Amino acid sequence: MNQKRYKCTVIGDYCVGKTSILNAYLGKSIENVQSTLGIDFFTKSVLVKGETVVMTLWDTAGAERFHSLTDSYLRDSNIVIIVYDLTKSTSNLSYWMRRVEQHRPQTVGILGNKNDMTTQYSEDLQDILFPWTRQHWNIVNGHCSSRETTSVKTFFKRCLLSMVKEDININETFLKLDGPFKIDTLRVKESNIRTCCS
Ligand code: GDP
Ligand code: MG
Repeated sequence: MNQKRYKCTVIGDYCVGKTSILNAYLGKSIENVQSTLGIDFFTKSVLVKGETVVMTLWDTAGAERFHSLTDSYLRDSNIVIIVYDLTKSTSNLSYWMRRVEQHRPQTVGILGNKNDMTTQYSEDLQDILFPWTRQHWNIVNGHCSSRETTSVKTFFKRCLLSMVKEDININETFLKLDGPFKIDTLRVKESNIRTCCS
């Protein structure tokens, strides 16, 4: 059976919580998060109205620290999630958006992490993102804490739904949805493939 595969990459500055967020999404322990060099790769099957789609989730695993993230990491991404740290004064979103720009994923998630620490954020994201929203990029904006799994899962669902809608626009025949798409029709089954030079 041909399963639809979606690539979802997670980027952002070092230490903003990317690995913790992926661990929360995959239901893994957030203790002993280790920053490794290389790329971590996971798969997660998501059942959408009886059809299984496979999400491959990519974690930079430290490459961002040395500015050695290559374009092949972002290439062919359906969803790119840019994580920033709400407790920091800068998000570096412009830099990351420019890195993403040429790959034009169907959805870009902008995710402020560590909202268990603060609810204030000083940068004007609307302003920062204007060059892309002006070009009708499909952007999903939200906050989470990797320590609160529900907030992470909700954000991924929002990105997935937004991307699937976009995908349907592109390919009307995929996921024959016969009504409003319901979040609670998503059921998640997990598997985990880890290829990493730790
Ligand atoms: P990465 O370099 O972006 O992958 O970041 P990590 O996932 O390695 O996390 C960096 C640090 O931030 C670790 O010490 C985490 O425990 C911490 N951290 C991650 N997410 C959160 C969060 O939601 N809240 C708080 N308070 N700390 C977090
Ligand atoms: Mg990491």
